[in-house]
Amino acid sequence: MAVDYDNENIFARILRNEIPCSKIYEDEHALAFEDINPQAPIHVLVIPKGPNVSMDDFCENASDEEIAGFLRAAGKCAQLLDLAAPGYRIVTNIGRDGMQEVPHLHLHIFGGKKLGRMLRADG
Ligand code: AMP
Repeated sequence: MAVDYDNENIFARILRNEIPCSKIYEDEHALAFEDINPQAPIHVLVIPKGPNVSMDDFCENASDEEIAGFLRAAGKCAQLLDLAAPGYRIVTNIGRDGMQEVPHLHLHIFGGKKLGRMLRADG
């Protein structure tokens, strides 16, 4: 099912070069850039280039090539950031309960230190 997509969301504007970003990597399917408010020593966002809000929207509506390209880009970024050996975490926040702020699918890549528990036990 097609999902409403806000063409004016900030990541759509970054993709259109209307707003600058600190680019880490770009290819046909994905763009990766530093998070403006980092939550770890390394905090990079990887976004697909298509108009997809969430992982479920993306997996339902993007092509196999777009999905594979996006995931390969995330893996490539982990290598470029020298995170493969020490390890890292990938998170995607979706919707209200996931507390997603920007309605364009994005993976957060966190690294550069021991990241602690994934979720607080009481959270
Ligand atoms: P989420 O809560 O998963 O939707 O995360 C949105 C993320 O986008 C937050 O970590 C913000 O710090 C980040 N962010 C918002 N605007 C920008 C921007 N212009 N450039 C880079 N990161 C941004």
